Amino acid sequence: MRQLLKTLLFSPLFIACGDHATDDHSTAADTTAVADTTFNWEVDQFADVRVLRYQVPGWEQLSLQQKQLAYYLNMAGLSGRDMMWDQNYRHNLKIRRALEAILKSDKVDRTSADGEKFMVYAKQVFFSNGIHHHCSMDKHLPEFGRAWFEEALKSSGATLAPEVMEVIFDPAIDAKKVSLESSKDLVLASAVNFYGEDVNEKEVEQFYAKMGSIDDAEPLSYGINSKLVRGQDGKLMEKVYKVDGMYGAALAECVKWLEKAITVAENPQQREALELLVKYYRTGDLKTWDDFNVAWVKDTKSSVDYIHGFVEVYNDPLGKRGSYECIVEVNDPEASKAMSKIMENAQWFEDNSPLLPEHKKENVVGITYSFINTAGESGDAAPSTPIGVNLPNADWIRATHGSKSVSLGNISDAYDKSSGASSLEVFCNDAEEIALAKEHGTLAGKLHTALHEVVGHASGKLEKGIAGPDVTLKNYASTLEEGRADLVALYFMMDPKLIELGVMPSLEVGKSEYDSYIRNGLLAQLRRLKPGKDVEEAHMRNRMWVSAWVVEKGMKENVIAKVERNGDTYYDIQDYDKLRVLFGDLLREVQRIKSQGDLAAGKALVENYGVKVDPVLHAQILKRAEKIKTAPYSGFVQPEMTAVTDASGNITDVTMAYPTDFIKQMLMYGEKFSFLPDEN
Ligand code: ZN
Repeated sequence: MRQLLKTLLFSPLFIACGDHATDDHSTAADTTAVADTTFNWEVDQFADVRVLRYQVPGWEQLSLQQKQLAYYLNMAGLSGRDMMWDQNYRHNLKIRRALEAILKSDKVDRTSADGEKFMVYAKQVFFSNGIHHHCSMDKHLPEFGRAWFEEALKSSGATLAPEVMEVIFDPAIDAKKVSLESSKDLVLASAVNFYGEDVNEKEVEQFYAKMGSIDDAEPLSYGINSKLVRGQDGKLMEKVYKVDGMYGAALAECVKWLEKAITVAENPQQREALELLVKYYRTGDLKTWDDFNVAWVKDTKSSVDYIHGFVEVYNDPLGKRGSYECIVEVNDPEASKAMSKIMENAQWFEDNSPLLPEHKKENVVGITYSFINTAGESGDAAPSTPIGVNLPNADWIRATHGSKSVSLGNISDAYDKSSGASSLEVFCNDAEEIALAKEHGTLAGKLHTALHEVVGHASGKLEKGIAGPDVTLKNYASTLEEGRADLVALYFMMDPKLIELGVMPSLEVGKSEYDSYIRNGLLAQLRRLKPGKDVEEAHMRNRMWVSAWVVEKGMKENVIAKVERNGDTYYDIQDYDKLRVLFGDLLREVQRIKSQGDLAAGKALVENYGVKVDPVLHAQILKRAEKIKTAPYSGFVQPEMTAVTDASGNITDVTMAYPTDFIKQMLMYGEKFSFLPDEN
């Protein structure tokens, strides 16, 4: 489960889908680490996207062995990059290769009007690992002419089949990567490449209904590592991602680097986990995947850690299949210390939460929370990145063995440092709200993330005999879980316990978080939607249904006022304590929905409060947002590690550089880390 950037000190706008901040800095280029004051955080902006950079503090303090470990893990991560492209859409790899050919050709004029439009399209496609927007899920539509493109293909020696050309230029074909529109067949309406083209939602559900048993205490993650297709006999079958199966060529490369990582593991626990991961990629065996996750959760001592695998299920409309991703992490012990207080008191939070007694955990187990600096990201985690991650996803492992939660400290810092102060004014109701945000926004954001990850996702339990939310709550499971974790965080953000624990100085921090949550959920985040669109992405949905529900209740009791001023809408929280009670009420209900698997209630909550956008308000928001110059989404150019070797080939150092050219990095990845054929 992941936490995406919601709010930052100076940027009330930057919400779901791994994003970012505002007004910026200069644009000079260099590829070496420099002090904060001269580091160029922003390197590119196009369409609705900004490309930033982040630094890796603490890199030089790592031992050579730790640097090698991080290097091997990062190579293992990059080696799987093609898988994410193919998972996102079946034609992505061939389209990307055609774009690469045009970008590298010296016979194509990329500075003409069409050429410039082509550059924007290419960057959009690279940014979203495919031809669909990473957040809105809509297909990117090229603005260059088809004739220009055909000519450019020809001069660069590339070809695309007529069918693929239609995909690029006809807006109607495979228009949506993931559709969550409940009136449609979600599998058929989604272009994502997790199911054969003729496979429908009902068949998928029937296929998995036969697997496992509701009484199974340790259910496997069925469907997490395969594509479901129709076999020659007409029956559905899984094409499993493994070394001698689907994506075998990429997985073999991943395994090659993971095996090197094993040789420099920091301790036996880490070695065991890595060995299990390799075994899993060789066999595709789901029990081995669980064994790996258990071993990985138990590895809490390593300074260099990682996420590698088919992990997050947000790209599957049915929430079963995992998108490939890798994050290489370097622990930040200093930053972790402050938040460890929350971890140590996890049971207190559970005992004092507003959940129904029967839905509380008696023993909250092993939540390990740390601040880390990421040293490299790939697959689903790049260029757009989460700011917090809590894994593993399997509920039974979390309950029995615990989970690991990380906040990506250097990513949050990069967002903070690249932001400007102009945008709060657009959506804050008054000067007091702006002042509160400026003074407490950064800490409030960090605390919200910590509470969401450590206390939120780990809290609550299912009633006996109730299956996991992916089974019971279906396409509403992700947004309900993210909303539930947000509600836990919101409920405790106004608890004096946080002051007692020494993690925040006053309840003013909580107030600024309440302001920002409502402001984002109901106003600012609408900036990201095109006119006429519904809210689709799970995190954006939850921010809306949580906010809309408490506002509806709160307006009746003078908890929150809706303010109309000069034709613009604002929200003014009048009673923070009562708002906290409302968050608690909603949390209790959402936990009940999860604990009892109450699909009807979950669906009603999401559909009634988190999907439909008032077109008049939406138009107003888009108009107001024109005053904000920076793009609403952002992601990162990755730092690049280089292994320095001596005459006999031994690694003597691993250096870290910070490139500034987004497209150059994308082309380099395409050359060095592309192992899959066009069709898989
Ligand atoms: Zn989450």
